[in-house]
Amino acid sequence: MSFLPHFKLSRPETLEEAISTLAGASGRAAALGGGSDLLDWMKSGLPAPEQLVALDRIKALRGIREEKRLLVIGAATCLAEIAVADVVIEAAPALAQAAADVGSPQIRSVATLGGNLLQRPRCWYLRSNYPCLKNGGNRCYAITGQNHYHAILGAGPSAIVHPSDCAAALSALGARVRVQGPGGRRELAIDDLYQLPADRLDLEHALEPGEILTDVVVPRARRQERSRFIKVRDRALFDFAVVSAAAWMRLDGLLCKEVRLCLGAVAPVPWRPAAAEAYLTDRMINEEVAIEAARLALDAAVPLEHNSYKIPLARNLVRRLVLGLAAG
Ligand SMILES: Cc1cc2nc3c(=O)[nH]c(=O)nc-3n(C[C@H](O)[C@H](O)[C@H](O)COP(=O)(O)OP(=O)(O)OC[C@H]3O[C@@H](n4cnc5c(N)ncnc54)[C@H](O)[C@@H]3O)c2cc1C
Ligand code: SF4
Repeated sequence: MSFLPHFKLSRPETLEEAISTLAGASGRAAALGGGSDLLDWMKSGLPAPEQLVALDRIKALRGIREEKRLLVIGAATCLAEIAVADVVIEAAPALAQAAADVGSPQIRSVATLGGNLLQRPRCWYLRSNYPCLKNGGNRCYAITGQNHYHAILGAGPSAIVHPSDCAAALSALGARVRVQGPGGRRELAIDDLYQLPADRLDLEHALEPGEILTDVVVPRARRQERSRFIKVRDRALFDFAVVSAAAWMRLDGLLCKEVRLCLGAVAPVPWRPAAAEAYLTDRMINEEVAIEAARLALDAAVPLEHNSYKIPLARNLVRRLVLGLAAG
């Protein structure tokens, strides 16, 4: 049985107060969204914050608004709201579909978009507090152990996959995130929010201590721009993705003028298959082209002992997405 360690809870009403509390705790505090991942992490005995700064009272972090050609979604907006918002379904369908596919209705009603993007890896060894590389040890147990759900792309030295469905959708949509911290505000492309274990082992994202993710900014779809997200999971009703894929495409009839693809749950970061994107650009979409794009998307995959099944699954998702978007 696992227990939550003692912690101090603050519930500030302004962003400035939250930032100054986080910054004043010298790395021993963490932002708290819905708590569906963070509290679970703390219960597993892994290194835990001593203070939690709840974001639920900060109005500026909640809601969905339109800014010219952009959709701006507050980081503390819950996924249930995003999944059914007409403006998201119309302007960024892949995001609405990804949010609707996260976990169960109970999870979606507490989980925030910011927390979904910044959730920690689900690797069984890590969550069971094995002394692996990401937990201060000197080996990755998954490489020779239970690696059914681990990475086939971008792995090394850790083989985690990024578990966020929304991150894959937002990467395909070309989203950006706004961040505020003791050093001021900044905005970065969602792809730059994530870092590979080869670049940084202890953390998966690029936020500085004390920084809060405030908004996610998504370009609204114009005419002839389409997007979609699909995922495969073990249990149909609620589960993390075994493999997911998202695509955004600008079309002129069946001619692909521009495309962004992203694969989820196959790599430590949401994975953009650049070769497949380059191949599809300025090409008429048909079955043969979709199959070649799918092949290119997984060309660099290096499976572990038990996860080569992810390659045909991911290829099939890419093929379906490309054909589905072209068909409208
Ligand atoms: C049973 C179950 C099934 C699930 N299935 C899926 C699934 O299918 N797909 C999927 O994508 N996810 C899935 N999840 C994960 C779930 O989506 C995440 O737990 C949730 O989105 C985290 O959001 P939260 O608001 O609860 O974050 P929290 O747990 O509060 O926080 C998560 C992390 O983000 C940080 N954080 C939160 N908000 C901010 C912010 N604004 N700025 C800076 N840091 C912040 C916290 O400090 C913490 O490190 C599942 C979880 C469970 C328990
Ligand atoms: S995959 Fe990463 S988190 Fe899992 S055991 Fe290996 S080093 Fe640890």
